[in-house]
Amino acid sequence: MDSRFRVKTLRATESPQQLVWLALHQDYSEDSVIDCVDPPSERLSGEIAVKRLLAGERGHYGCLEHPQISLAVAGFPHSVMQQARTHRVGVSFDVQSGRYTGKRIIDLAEGRRQIEDVFYLRPTGEYHDRKGKSYQYTEDQRKIDSFILLESAIAFRNAMERGMSEEHARDMIPYAIRQDFVVSFNLRSALHFMDLRGKADAQHEIVRFSQLLWPCIQEWTPEIAAYYTKHRLGKARLAP
Ligand SMILES: Cc1cc2nc3c(=O)[nH]c(=O)nc-3n(C[C@H](O)[C@H](O)[C@H](O)COP(=O)(O)OP(=O)(O)OC[C@H]3O[C@@H](n4cnc5c(N)ncnc54)[C@H](O)[C@@H]3O)c2cc1C
Repeated sequence: MDSRFRVKTLRATESPQQLVWLALHQDYSEDSVIDCVDPPSERLSGEIAVKRLLAGERGHYGCLEHPQISLAVAGFPHSVMQQARTHRVGVSFDVQSGRYTGKRIIDLAEGRRQIEDVFYLRPTGEYHDRKGKSYQYTEDQRKIDSFILLESAIAFRNAMERGMSEEHARDMIPYAIRQDFVVSFNLRSALHFMDLRGKADAQHEIVRFSQLLWPCIQEWTPEIAAYYTKHRLGKARLAP
């Protein structure tokens, strides 16, 4: 795991599993949950939610749409942000702008930052192309790629010095740029994201993002996450 990849919960609905319980309780209650007794404990609410909504692939995921979690995601390359942003139901993003930011690229061009603070390169090792053919990503090749990235940072700095705007000069910046973002999910959309992006054939880096996202969900909704871990995590059991 790249040490600059980070995911941190910023805010999350308190007692999320009790909220799921209140939602499911309303479904079969004659009267409003406004007037109902207090929900069971957070743990028991989670267990009831698993039993009544999820177990045996019941698929009653709707009640999971009420709790919300917001996370800060740092250090991943532009491609991860781009892939994550294809998810649009129950998900919201704020992404580091290329219009208002660019100083870190100039810092790199002028030697005040290290290349890997600004750009991401895969570790050396064996990889596969999309057809399954293996190839080596060597230290020598990685050095050449670092040089190309540094050249792009210098081109960006030179363009800015000529008076170009950031939004114009960024055309010289490759996908390898690390781009930070804030993302909010509801519990259902977070699980759906894990279905699609935590599976082995998703791109290496977004799988890493999923691996850092998952502990945040586990800590937040332990009983529901335990069910998901057992029955769906990494199994590519996709929702329709
Ligand atoms: C391994 C992998 C490779 C991919 N490669 C590419 C690629 O090369 N190019 C590319 O453009 N995309 C690619 N994608 C993105 C993919 O096509 C989806 O757009 C993306 O994963 C978002 O998922 P989602 O459609 O489930 O959307 P979400 O926003 O996560 O939606 C959740 C669910 O809501 C429902 N839903 C959402 N929108 C609608 C709608 N408009 N109508 C009806 N139901 C809806 C669906 O049930 C959907 O599954 C790839 C995804 C993966 C996982």
